[in-house]
Amino acid sequence: KSQYEAKLITEKTLKDILPIRGLNSHKGNYGRALMIAGSRGMTGAAILASKAALRSGVGMLHLAIPEELNDILETQLTEVMTVPFQVPKGNAKEFTGVEDIMGSLQRSNVVALGPGLGRSKETEVIVERVLREAKCPVILDADALNVLPKMLKLLKKVKSRCILTPHPGEMAKLTGLSIPEINENRIKVAKDFSRKYGVIVVLKGASTVITDEEGHVYLNTTGNPGMATAGSGDVLTGIITALVGQKINLIGAAMAGVYIHGRSGDEAAKITGEYGMIASDMVREVPRIITEIV
Ligand code: AMP
Ligand code: MG
Repeated sequence: KSQYEAKLITEKTLKDILPIRGLNSHKGNYGRALMIAGSRGMTGAAILASKAALRSGVGMLHLAIPEELNDILETQLTEVMTVPFQVPKGNAKEFTGVEDIMGSLQRSNVVALGPGLGRSKETEVIVERVLREAKCPVILDADALNVLPKMLKLLKKVKSRCILTPHPGEMAKLTGLSIPEINENRIKVAKDFSRKYGVIVVLKGASTVITDEEGHVYLNTTGNPGMATAGSGDVLTGIITALVGQKINLIGAAMAGVYIHGRSGDEAAKITGEYGMIASDMVREVPRIITEIV
């Protein structure tokens, strides 16, 4: 029955969600986003999420990155400003680097965290501090979701609005359900989680399900199995972050984000086919798709 309550996300649905840019507008009008992503061995996730955010129109993007990786990211990401932070070495207990991230968070109007962040003690500290201190909307993905089961009580109390973007494996850890149980009841699982924790859930996979705190359900209509490739989800996180930064309401940003992401996958597949497409091919398609649907 719940299938029938769901609304489909189509180009028409998004018509009034994406605003036209004012002639006199400047970068300050389009948001200052903070991305907390990447670690040794997973800098690509930070790069994909950052590029996708820039290609989706965010005014300014800051990327918090472990100090030792700063130079690599600065050479890869020309338009991004980095926030290098110290990670304790050996048995050092104090993670003072987190204060640099929190300083940048104070000046941001959206924060996204998780892509390639790693499942470390530092990631746990970062996620907890962001949940406690953020005054802006928070987008949680990947490793931020992987450490979240330890702080679900905190998630319930968070003042900022949150968007969670789990794939079924991450949703399994968050709910304690098995992946088959999730895939057989995708709408119900997302809806229950949204209600219970007061967050927007983007449960990814073929026809991504979006649910909000009030029980609304939306199903995406774009995308293809070529998108089942490393880095694909990081691109989605970047797109949604940029849309929230541009002050589109949260559920609208989630809906537009998954639609644009899926269609960027469909366009990429027209060129390379589903077998050989990679996540950066999707990033390249994003600007044109946004222009088409605005
Ligand atoms: P992740 O697993 O975090 O890299 O995210 C994968 C992304 O690709 C999500 O946005 C999924 O919705 C999308 N995706 C993966 N497989 C498919 C599929 N078979 N059809 C449509 N989209 C998919
Ligand atoms: Mg992912």
